[in-house]
Amino acid sequence: METVHNFINGKQVASKGTKAWPIYNPATGKQIRQVMMSTPEEVNEAVDVAQAAFKEWSKTSPLRRARIMFKFKTLLEENFDSLARLITEEHGKVYSDSIGELTRGLEVVEFACGIPHLLKGEFSEQAGRGIDIHSTMQPLGVTVGITPFNFPAMVPMWMFPIALACGNTFILKPAKTDPSLSIRLAELLKEAGLPDGVFNVVHGDRHDNEILLREERVKAVSFVGSTTAAAHVHKVGSEFGKRVQALGAAKNHGLVMPDADIEATANALLGAAYGAAGERCMALPIAVTIDDATADKLVAALKPKVEALRHGPGIPKEGEKEMDFGPLITKQHLDNVTGYVDKGVEEGATLVVDGRGKKPQGAEEGFFIGGTLFDHVTEEMTIYKEEIFGPVLGIVRAKGFKDAMSLINDHPFGNGTAIFTSDGGAAREFAYDVQAGMVGINVPIPVPMAFHCFGGWKHSAYGALNVYGPDGVRFYTKMKTVTSRWPNPKVIEDAAFSMPTL
Ligand code: NAD
Repeated sequence: METVHNFINGKQVASKGTKAWPIYNPATGKQIRQVMMSTPEEVNEAVDVAQAAFKEWSKTSPLRRARIMFKFKTLLEENFDSLARLITEEHGKVYSDSIGELTRGLEVVEFACGIPHLLKGEFSEQAGRGIDIHSTMQPLGVTVGITPFNFPAMVPMWMFPIALACGNTFILKPAKTDPSLSIRLAELLKEAGLPDGVFNVVHGDRHDNEILLREERVKAVSFVGSTTAAAHVHKVGSEFGKRVQALGAAKNHGLVMPDADIEATANALLGAAYGAAGERCMALPIAVTIDDATADKLVAALKPKVEALRHGPGIPKEGEKEMDFGPLITKQHLDNVTGYVDKGVEEGATLVVDGRGKKPQGAEEGFFIGGTLFDHVTEEMTIYKEEIFGPVLGIVRAKGFKDAMSLINDHPFGNGTAIFTSDGGAAREFAYDVQAGMVGINVPIPVPMAFHCFGGWKHSAYGALNVYGPDGVRFYTKMKTVTSRWPNPKVIEDAAFSMPTL
């Protein structure tokens, strides 16, 4: 069985661990590889190496670091096809979606290429008579990224391009279900000229993460995953003196106003709810209407479209059209999602389209479920309250705009949200009042570009700073402010005992 190893100090290192985790091709349901969980000694070794590499890397000029990022960007582009195939093989998402994921990661690399400009700091000439003040942004040291299964390329690339460009070293702990991509990223960074030890990958589970969270030499942890884990990582990491940004789960609402174009909105919801089989933190699994007439029209428009959705293996056969979405990540997750659909029926939601048991022909062993649509979902139902993370869309019929806003704002998650309308006033009110970190106006998946920042509100994110963009630079640097005066030989000042003022 092919084994995925750690990548430490510029090379793959055969694992000494004894705990193996199976890696499946979710489209076939067959195990294709295994990954070994790291031993505590291996985790410590990665920290030793990253700590040692920090000494030189942190002193390398930002321009030189940017040049390595430029080279890495070129290598990524040259390898897009093989990288996308690897994502599809282990995650299951369709090939064009894997390309999309890589592109969104690449955009952060492009942003990091501008690091000499981003690290310029501030300068105040003559802040006092003969006194200047300047501030610099210095790297933190060893930083860690703990990432989820659903974006094996993009989420790590939200983090490490900026961490490295700022002069930190980085240890990536990817999800154990689809870990191979992380090794390819490490190899391409090395090929781009990144010195050994600056970027390392350790595989493992929560026990390995716990070591990293408590390790004194680790200065910052970026986390993306479920909310239970995010809250835990934020609490423990902070207790152990680290900077932590921890992004958690989501339940994003799309508000469909009576004046929305129903056909365009149904299409937008279709992509946002069922793309990547719903395994996206910025998916839109809930559509809210404020009157029954709009809800009826929306259900009528969606029903045939959901029934016609095509799901199957992510790489199309020669001459065939690509599927709309692929399988779920594991058999266990398939069982969870199927369980949620059972629960929705049990709790009284109207099942308009049932995807349970729908297996694509020839891929019966894959972890597939068809697109599922519920109407009359209510606030009390489990399928409303919890994140399903599958191809399941629910319609909630609110009683007016105010009621819809309370519904959205009272939900414990506040990652993204969207409004579909042609009324500028309603859109503005929504954007202003809604309690979520990322808002779309007729844009179903408002994932900000790399030069803005990504982050949710409420239980969708813990920590003061968002990921990537200007917040990413702030997260991965500490500010130092220097106040300077050069001696004037003609003036010798007396000793001053009061608080200096300028
Ligand atoms: P997960 O929480 O099971 O695992 C994510 C990472 O956390 C893994 O690397 C895992 O090793 C680690 N982990 C798990 N439990 C831990 C614990 N108790 N302590 C420390 N580390 C722990 O999540 P997943 O199933 O891989 O990913 C899906 C989840 O990620 C969904 O909830 C989704 O909404 C969320 N997600 C959020 C965002 C966002 O930007 N908010 C983006 C992508 C995914």
